[in-house]
Amino acid sequence: MAKRDYYEVLEVSRSASDAEIKKAYRQKAIQFHPDKNPGDHTAEEKFKEAAEAYEVLSDPEKRKRYDQFGHAGVNGQGGGGFGGGMSMDDIFSNFGDIFGSAFGGAFGGFGGQSSGGRRVNKGSNLRIKVSLTLEDIAKGTHKKIKVTKYVPCDTCSGTGAKNSSSFHTCSTCNGQGQVRRVTNTFLGQMQTTTTCPTCGGEGRTISEKCTVCHGDGILKGEEIVDINIPAGVTEGMVMTMSGKGNAAARGGIPGDLLIQVDEIPHPELQRDGINLLYEHYISLPEAALGTTIEIPTVDGKAKVKIEAGTQGGKVLRLRGKGLPEVNGYNKGDLLVNVNVWTPRTLTSDEKKILEKLAESPNFQPSPTKRDKSFFDRMKEYFG
Ligand SMILES: [Zn+2]
Ligand SMILES: [Zn+2]
Repeated sequence: MAKRDYYEVLEVSRSASDAEIKKAYRQKAIQFHPDKNPGDHTAEEKFKEAAEAYEVLSDPEKRKRYDQFGHAGVNGQGGGGFGGGMSMDDIFSNFGDIFGSAFGGAFGGFGGQSSGGRRVNKGSNLRIKVSLTLEDIAKGTHKKIKVTKYVPCDTCSGTGAKNSSSFHTCSTCNGQGQVRRVTNTFLGQMQTTTTCPTCGGEGRTISEKCTVCHGDGILKGEEIVDINIPAGVTEGMVMTMSGKGNAAARGGIPGDLLIQVDEIPHPELQRDGINLLYEHYISLPEAALGTTIEIPTVDGKAKVKIEAGTQGGKVLRLRGKGLPEVNGYNKGDLLVNVNVWTPRTLTSDEKKILEKLAESPNFQPSPTKRDKSFFDRMKEYFG
């Protein structure tokens, strides 16, 4: 395997200052750190490669020899290659002075997690649907919903043990939750950390299990969850209630409850984003004489005046009678499409009256500019 140029590895120029080299290495080390790339062999190799490059370029004497003779100038005697014998621990032992506390804080050292390496069980997320009417959505609402899920076992308080003396520190990992293994590879000694197979990473074992939950610490149960639904939610939207999902085995962190909005179609109103649409028919005489109609809204009935001489297809806008934006201050409108009902059947008397009216000049269509075309109205209301 051809060794890559150290400057290339750290992506710095050949004239880079010590500070630039240090900074570049820090970035690479964070990017390819094994804790961030568990099980990724390529990342691990890049991590070692960067460490090796830094080892040479941060040392003025070694850097000088490298600049003059290349890799041959810094390879150890015997041609074993620089990497020989350099373990991950060697790399990490340098971290204290290179990265200071910032690095330690981010990763907690090799293979370490904030819990000191022990695994903390996590409950699974739970997904439920909540059915909402447009009225619910318009104002926002509270729903109490019975959720079937894993809950902590009451008998053992979720620990899974019969009593407190049933717990024992795992002898395989000494309570660490992880076991280290050192293997020899062509890159040198490699140390890997894996979850302890005896305790599953929990760091302790239970000799006498709780007889109710059989050591799981959780049971199938129910919980009444009070769900707060904000106004303006839309079909399919998912809200998260953290910690309200399934309880975790043996006192871990519960999962989340994911609540998906299922909108119940309104019998009369149609939703279009934050606007509501309503189709209304008036009779021929009402169109000519004017009338008052009643419109359903998400907030009860509303009375709307229809002017004498209203044309079919007119759209009335009831400002603010739509739905609110879910995370905003805007409120939609209720758009009423006024249609004129043309009778489908006529008695002979009605026919006579209409035939007489048809002769009147007032009944001859004479649209003005005020009677905007259908397309202009569409542009105005939906554009
Ligand atoms: Zn139990
Ligand atoms: Zn163990």
